[in-house]
Amino acid sequence: MLEHSEYYSKLVETLRQHHEFYRQSIPLIASENLASLAVRSMYLTDFGHRYAEGRVGKRFYQGCQYIDVVEDMAIQLTKEIFNAEHANVQPISGVTANIAAFFALTSPGDKLMALSVPCGGHISHDRFSAAGIRGLEVLHYPFDMDNLNVDVDETRKVAEKEKPKVFVLGSSLILFPHPVKEIAEIAAEIGARVVYDGSHVLGLIAGKQFQDPVKEGADVITASTHKTFFGPQRAIILCKAELAKKIDNAVFPGVVSNHHLHSLAGYVIACLEMLEFGEAYARQIVRNAKRLAERMHELGFNVVGEHLGFTESHQVAVDVTEFGGGDPVAKLFERINIILNKNLLPWDDLTKTKNPSGIRIGVQEITRLGMKEGEMEKLAEIMWDAVNGKKSEDKLRQEVIELKKEFNTIKYAFEETEAYTFFENFLSAPQRKI
Ligand SMILES: *Cc1c(COP(=O)(O)O)cnc(C)c1O
Repeated sequence: MLEHSEYYSKLVETLRQHHEFYRQSIPLIASENLASLAVRSMYLTDFGHRYAEGRVGKRFYQGCQYIDVVEDMAIQLTKEIFNAEHANVQPISGVTANIAAFFALTSPGDKLMALSVPCGGHISHDRFSAAGIRGLEVLHYPFDMDNLNVDVDETRKVAEKEKPKVFVLGSSLILFPHPVKEIAEIAAEIGARVVYDGSHVLGLIAGKQFQDPVKEGADVITASTHKTFFGPQRAIILCKAELAKKIDNAVFPGVVSNHHLHSLAGYVIACLEMLEFGEAYARQIVRNAKRLAERMHELGFNVVGEHLGFTESHQVAVDVTEFGGGDPVAKLFERINIILNKNLLPWDDLTKTKNPSGIRIGVQEITRLGMKEGEMEKLAEIMWDAVNGKKSEDKLRQEVIELKKEFNTIKYAFEETEAYTFFENFLSAPQRKI
């Protein structure tokens, strides 16, 4: 048991260890990234302690005149980056954005069509989360295992019979663009709407290296802003002008009261970085993902989607059944400082959740740290040696630390800064008083 007086020093020490661990590790979680120091510096402003319910210029409390300026900047930049008719920048996370979108577009008892979790769907598309909260009946798309994508023809048959109100596209395991245009045509025929959840690929869309769901006809786009889009942890919703009011009302008063204004200010900076560096950054991400997949395949890994070119996104999926499954492999990698997650693959059923057949790799964060194709090759080789027990775990961990050493600076930012700066002096000040 800790004495109360010991909590603070333990807290600071734990955070220091976390920073040090990340400095010495290769982060490959596909849903994470680094925000620049300029973005993070906004977190410390007074904005983090205010309320700004309502819309720009139409707030419920006084004192929001400067917040209005910032939220308007966020809206304008978002519309510019994504060429969207309307943007709501208030959801505080991707799940919140999905709850709002479903709230706006459906009534309890309606049907929603989404990808199953093994096929890449996010839990919030399903009955365990946002869709369930709204009381929706969830149907899963027929999935084409050869093309690793939604089966459009089979979907049409199911849709004509079941008449879902909403089709969700975009997913958490997303190697290839989804058939947004085709599904939007089916939706139009039966009076349904298409929601594209771009949480994973928002930065690739911003950098013009992935499908553009706005152009392809999605009615609503929801997305986290901290995955390939390297902003603070929050989310946006884009929509057609005709849906603006519905979406805005679903966000507030629907799912937010305060909307984390300090991170909203940080998001404005991330937008500016994306406009300046997004294209080069996103292009390198896709190159890195392809090279990593190719090298892993050459070495003997069962990389998903060989006949399709492995990937067109930031992700690589690998079937590691022959090495005991996703769970032991992810844990082995963690012991040698490679951080990634086990993942269900389309041919798994939910009983395999604890030890699915796959791992999922995202290269967006190491790309932001400046890694290129050469580092992808080294990384693939370390992983191959690890799963085959070719070297001791100690030796492999040393190789990871060595590889990471030169890549701890955040690139594609106006000012390149050290990624894991620990503001020691700042944090230790209150410690003396507690
Ligand atoms: C990560 C993810 C979310 C949830 O995002 P949060 O910001 O963590 O709430 C929603 N949808 C998809 C497809 C995701 O991958």
